[in-house]
Amino acid sequence: MNDRSPFSRADRLLGIEVSGIVRISEAAALLRAEGKHVIDLGVGEPDFPTPEHVVDAAFQAARNGKTRYTANSGTPELRAAIGKRHDATEKEVLVSTGAKQVIFNALMATLNVGDEVIFAAPFWTTYMDMVQIVGGRAVVVQTADTGLKITPEQLENAITKRTRWLLLNNPGNPSGAVYRPDELVALADVLRRHPQIAVMSDEIYREISYAPFVSLRDAAPDLRERMLVVDGASKAYAMTGWRMGWGVGPQSLIGNMAIVQGQSTSCASSISQAAVLAALTGPDDYLAERCRSFRDRSLFLIEKLRATRLFDCAAPDGAFYLFPRCARALGMKQPDGKVIATDDDVSRYLMQEAHVAVVPGGLFGSPGHLRISYALKQDELADACRRIAEACGRLTPF
Ligand code: PMP
Repeated sequence: MNDRSPFSRADRLLGIEVSGIVRISEAAALLRAEGKHVIDLGVGEPDFPTPEHVVDAAFQAARNGKTRYTANSGTPELRAAIGKRHDATEKEVLVSTGAKQVIFNALMATLNVGDEVIFAAPFWTTYMDMVQIVGGRAVVVQTADTGLKITPEQLENAITKRTRWLLLNNPGNPSGAVYRPDELVALADVLRRHPQIAVMSDEIYREISYAPFVSLRDAAPDLRERMLVVDGASKAYAMTGWRMGWGVGPQSLIGNMAIVQGQSTSCASSISQAAVLAALTGPDDYLAERCRSFRDRSLFLIEKLRATRLFDCAAPDGAFYLFPRCARALGMKQPDGKVIATDDDVSRYLMQEAHVAVVPGGLFGSPGHLRISYALKQDELADACRRIAEACGRLTPF
């Protein structure tokens, strides 16, 4: 039962806390306050700057008086540019304050209490909390033993009469997994047998894919009528702080999402919209270059982690995270005699001993793993790897 103090939480917030990743940032901040140099491999944003022509466009927009509310769903020019990117019409596009708000709009607009949303673990932590906030039920499919991707059999088994959405994150955070076209086709076969289920494809990392990226929207065009693509500027264009995301889907769904947005935040920032228009319509040769750089860093990090012999690392296909198993670190003894029992302990140990922040896999629904971001400058990454190797070297078998 909730308490009755003036600011007691609404029932829908019970059990939901500030993210565990924030807890790790706080531990890092404490060490920094003691003068220690902490390297943060917990970050979820590109280290690159926002491209200069994009910043210029924002400056121009502000100077030219584009400082008022725009249409609730986004400016016509931006919606048209987004439509072009996703082979959709302007009316099938909603511009929001980040991809996060797109997902929230969609769930809020469609879920009734007890409706189910299927997604894979490891998952982006927000999926779990958002589904709960809007009264839905998360149905989590564990993919730690299936290459960090949901299989058609797993999907079929997870579907019930209450299923409303399959939420597919492709490329995945924290998995780094990217679905191949044949895998998407196989999932689409299952979905065709269940026409009542909607599909949300969160493609916020689509520009950071090491093989050519294929969206479910293109692999199975017949599903477009019940599909929402979630995308945004945060990761592709290094614009996390500009808060710009968009949803692409059938007009009826987009209309209902626009109602949620209209009654909660209204349009996204007019200046950010002008900036993203420049990002989408201007030169974009830097994207491939940045993607290559992420790939090089992933290969560097894998090699170093494998050398410790404590982490099992599959090469990611995209995004900028590794999600290694840390099973062989469990049961090892720290120099102070404590035994490492969980992924949480590994994360704490690396923070204390190496001053390196990594996130335990349990926070993403797959304990026994770590999420390690490589969206860092190469010299910092090398420094972090050196420190991790040294700290691992001080562990002894129990
Ligand atoms: N989806 C995934 C999988 C993410 O990792 C993130 C950002 N961490 C988002 C959506 C939200 O991105 P934004 O709100 O910055 O557009």
